[in-house]
Amino acid sequence: MPDFSLTRDQESLLEELRELVGRKIAPASLELDRAGDDRFDFSLAGFLAGLNLLTPTVPREYGGRGLDYFTTALVLEEVSAGCAGLAAVVTANIHAASPIILGGTDHQKEAFLPRLTRPDPNLAAFALTESSSGSDIGAMQSFASPVRKDGRANSTGQWVINGSKDYVINGGVAEFIVLFAATDPKNKKGGMMAFVVPSGTPGMSVESVRNKMGIRYANTVRLVFDDLKLDGNYVIGRPGSAYLLLMQTFDRGRSLAGAIGVGIARAAYECALKYSKERVQFGRPVYSNQGVSFTLAELATKIEAARMLVWKACWLIDRDLDYTMASSMAKIAGSKVAVEAASAAMEICGGGGYLVGHPVEKYLRDARVLPIIEGTDHIQKAVIASLL
Ligand SMILES: Cc1cc2nc3c(=O)[nH]c(=O)nc-3n(C[C@H](O)[C@H](O)[C@H](O)COP(=O)(O)OP(=O)(O)OC[C@H]3O[C@@H](n4cnc5c(N)ncnc54)[C@H](O)[C@@H]3O)c2cc1C
Repeated sequence: MPDFSLTRDQESLLEELRELVGRKIAPASLELDRAGDDRFDFSLAGFLAGLNLLTPTVPREYGGRGLDYFTTALVLEEVSAGCAGLAAVVTANIHAASPIILGGTDHQKEAFLPRLTRPDPNLAAFALTESSSGSDIGAMQSFASPVRKDGRANSTGQWVINGSKDYVINGGVAEFIVLFAATDPKNKKGGMMAFVVPSGTPGMSVESVRNKMGIRYANTVRLVFDDLKLDGNYVIGRPGSAYLLLMQTFDRGRSLAGAIGVGIARAAYECALKYSKERVQFGRPVYSNQGVSFTLAELATKIEAARMLVWKACWLIDRDLDYTMASSMAKIAGSKVAVEAASAAMEICGGGGYLVGHPVEKYLRDARVLPIIEGTDHIQKAVIASLL
């Protein structure tokens, strides 16, 4: 890594964002966390949309900020320090935009990308996982075919999609959904297609809203497709390219999942550090006990190490160098440090930290999803092992 210093633009962006996160996003996040999972509050997403940061990777020519992955990771660290659920919403937008940016037609880019840059918040979703197909993408049971469910040919020559997708972040509130479906179960990689589906298209419906332990701000749903018909101009990428678009999206996205972990870890660590210097027991701050201060010193070290892995992965992505292994390492490091820091912070904050409504209690619930999403940490280890 040749240079660790941030540019003036990055510094001022972070300054603006930190102020917004501290004043508005973090307090609203705690409040919304306590509300139900089935009600989505657009105003929180609107704070970021006002800065055109809801999908920071959309190129400038389509109205976006055109941020590189390094700067996007800086943004996500800040956002997740205030609201990991909002950071998950941003990441879902980035994932949905990615296949269109990488493989979409000019028409698709013009039709869909500018929607994610408007100040009235617009969201998108990325739908891959199914009940029978989580880590094993090839077991996908959503099929795209020229014929309908009942076997009748579709006279209009459109693609017909039947199946379902689960755990789709933004799925119930999105402007459009990027959906992966199989065409040939025997050809797992080549027989996959990606579609962009505008919300409200007949044949697509929300079956249920998932009630989650953490990242509760992020609307997460199960979607069902029942003879969903799409013209060929909704297909993303040339024939046979969907798997590659998917892998490129994942490989890049994993570095951002790492950044979310670093943000949660930092917030938990800062909360515990402050408390430990203020809380007096036995006539002195609890920080004066090495059991506490050394834990915090270790956390500070691990957070910095995870951040460096995130930065390195993003540095490689931005230069189109080989980033697959670095991105998987960044994701593992970020998710591990988030869980460890949130758990340690809860211990340092004592009984208060265990109470519902305390920030560290939320950090721990939010952190716990990170080893699961974006390809589990087990799968990241399999990716790394395959490259050693
Ligand atoms: C809150 C939340 C939001 C999500 N958002 C989205 C979204 O927006 N879009 C989307 O498409 N998906 C989303 N997901 C789905 C997520 O990506 C999957 O849950 C994840 O990929 C794991 O799949 P699974 O849950 O089916 O677990 P499984 O694949 O069934 O895995 C179960 C366990 O077995 C392990 N395992 C499986 N295979 C292997 C292997 N080969 N080697 C070692 N260990 C293995 C796993 O690591 C895991 O521990 C979301 C999930 C959650 C919880």
